[in-house]
Amino acid sequence: MSVDILLKGGILPDGRTTDIAIANGRIAAIEPSIDAEAGEVVDISGDLVSPPFIDPHFHMDATLSYGHPRINASGTLLEGIALWGELKAQQTEEEIAERALRYCDWAVSMGLLAIRSHVDTSDDDAMKGVRALLAVRETVRPYLDLQLVAFPQDGFYRAPKAKENTLAALDMGVDVVGGIPHFERTMADGRASVTELCEIAAERGLMVDMHCDETDDPMSRHIEQLAYETQRLGLQGRVTGSHLTSMHSMDNYYVSKLLPLIAEAEVAAIPNPLINITLQGRHDTYPKRRGLTRVPEMLGHGIRVAWGQDCVLDPWYSLGTADMLDVAFMGLHVAQMTSPGDMRRCFDMVTSESAAIMGLDDLGLEKGRRASLVVLDAGDPIEAIRLRPDRLLVISNGRIVARRKRGGTTLALPGRPASVSRRHTVEGRSNVA
Ligand SMILES: [Zn+2]
Repeated sequence: MSVDILLKGGILPDGRTTDIAIANGRIAAIEPSIDAEAGEVVDISGDLVSPPFIDPHFHMDATLSYGHPRINASGTLLEGIALWGELKAQQTEEEIAERALRYCDWAVSMGLLAIRSHVDTSDDDAMKGVRALLAVRETVRPYLDLQLVAFPQDGFYRAPKAKENTLAALDMGVDVVGGIPHFERTMADGRASVTELCEIAAERGLMVDMHCDETDDPMSRHIEQLAYETQRLGLQGRVTGSHLTSMHSMDNYYVSKLLPLIAEAEVAAIPNPLINITLQGRHDTYPKRRGLTRVPEMLGHGIRVAWGQDCVLDPWYSLGTADMLDVAFMGLHVAQMTSPGDMRRCFDMVTSESAAIMGLDDLGLEKGRRASLVVLDAGDPIEAIRLRPDRLLVISNGRIVARRKRGGTTLALPGRPASVSRRHTVEGRSNVA
């Protein structure tokens, strides 16, 4: 056998040690010991080899704009929205595309090879973003899967041009139908928007991903309508509710009815812990609510949940690194998912679970699948979350697209070793259920 790339001695997320042979963009073999002629052999002994990181919730039309036209001084959602309005009017299509491409470079360097990005379709200024990101989607297609959501950010009914532009964006090839029911003028309008947008998706055979109930108001219950419409229209498995933060504050009795409805409708959930822990609870004094939706409870009901990043250096969030392990790290803490099984699951929630939500069923470390993977300077998935380590090697569709030399720190301490590594693998931990 002759292959393009042969990786020797990697550790899979489930703890098995393996070689991986890559040929013609696919995984040709994944076995404990492979003998093959290879264009390049890479020794990855002792390092974690994982499916690529996948961000199922992002805003690429705003990313890396931090500071333009000014900084969000309060750090609140409302100042962020006002700032986005100013930026939208000023930025050009070229500027949006240039920033998006720069962000995709960051993403690739971190092993983040698929992104679902919402793109604002509220007004004519926003259509610059639609055109820019459609072009970027084609540019990055060889190495990064960019899926776009038509997102009427100022309200499908509330913003005068939103409906027309959302439909136009879908006609232009935007992949997924979005919405923001809690931002419409009334609860009734919010409900109606969920119905109409789900009907549009059903008619066009598209997936749905709505910003849903991103508020601390326990009466914001549009997720109920989203689950109902999913079932009525036969959209099971194709619909996602993003954020769902109001569920944090809802009455427990109501939630005990709601979670089975979401599970029955096979609606997935995408909490965004970096942003939700920052933006929610801002009207509270103390105690101050965390605002993150009920992640362990949803998982307990068999609801699919994946962590999203949401923002990097934009009007709403002044930090961010394109590292999905930062997202898993924050989610694990805020949701108190600290058992070995739960921590392990948090890793899947930025890799395989987000792939499933985006419908990317050709990814994963199995023979015959697309050869997209990442090698990390860690021994297992939990250690990867703890260290958020260097990505030593990133392969996309069979090509090495990023590479980093292993870092090391030398020490000058009396009677101590000359170098230090913070790796500390716990044997047999990664395959706990
Ligand atoms: Zn968002």
